[in-house]
Amino acid sequence: MNKLAEQIRIVLVNTSHPGNIGACARVMKNMGLRNLYLVAPEQFPNVQASAMASGADDILANAVVVGDLATALEGCFRVFATSARKRRIRDQFLLPPDAVQIALPLAEQHKIAFVFGRERTGLENQELAQCEYQILIPTNPQFPSLNLASAVQILCYELYMQAFQHRSNHSQNIIQQKKTSSRQSIHDELSGHDALEYYFQHLEKTLSKIGFLNLKQSPQIILKLRHLYQRAQLSQNELNILQGILTATDKIYTQNKKS
Ligand code: SAH
Repeated sequence: MNKLAEQIRIVLVNTSHPGNIGACARVMKNMGLRNLYLVAPEQFPNVQASAMASGADDILANAVVVGDLATALEGCFRVFATSARKRRIRDQFLLPPDAVQIALPLAEQHKIAFVFGRERTGLENQELAQCEYQILIPTNPQFPSLNLASAVQILCYELYMQAFQHRSNHSQNIIQQKKTSSRQSIHDELSGHDALEYYFQHLEKTLSKIGFLNLKQSPQIILKLRHLYQRAQLSQNELNILQGILTATDKIYTQNKKS
């Protein structure tokens, strides 16, 4: 769990109630996690946060406060968003146990983030589009939205349970190690979050430049494209090819403009 604690990031976006930040710190410590990232919290540090942390003050003291989600996700290999609602741009959702099953083997070598949204409005589509996966915790459809710290609790509990089983049961450990090592070679080739982000920025620039994309008229298109590439689980090599296409397009565009 110690190694895992190093690799997993819990990211809270624009939290309005400082008590919720404290409650999240508490559940994280309960479940053996410690890396808390706060994106533009409304009030932090705050006495209510410390009160609700009830003993998890070290998590609050070490929390990394940043201005936007992209900064909080720097250096991560995979990012899991959580949302209480199904959104139009994404049709695939993971249940918490399945998300953790994907995340844990990756966390052996890479940093992984779990992102949680605002109390009132959740995550914006632009923010969801920065995440490779989306997790939906099944709840009563008439009353689907959990308290922020409850949602964090469910995810952290699942991480703790699967990581703990992984260590405590010797034979299961061996099976798990085999699974991990056979999957490892595939994962090593997978492109990481930062590389994908870099590609998306380039894609947006090139598509705007050649007149295909007008972000004001059709803001959904780039979100849909992001989702398409995220679903594809591109290897680094495939991503390099796509980058090459963009670079060639940029070059032709510049030549045509000159002539
Ligand atoms: N009204 C908001 C809910 C915000 S709850 C909305 O409709 O999106 C605050 C955060 O807790 C959410 O952004 C999400 O990160 C998490 N959360 C709450 N309920 C959840 C659920 N059922 N599944 C996944 N995440 C949930």
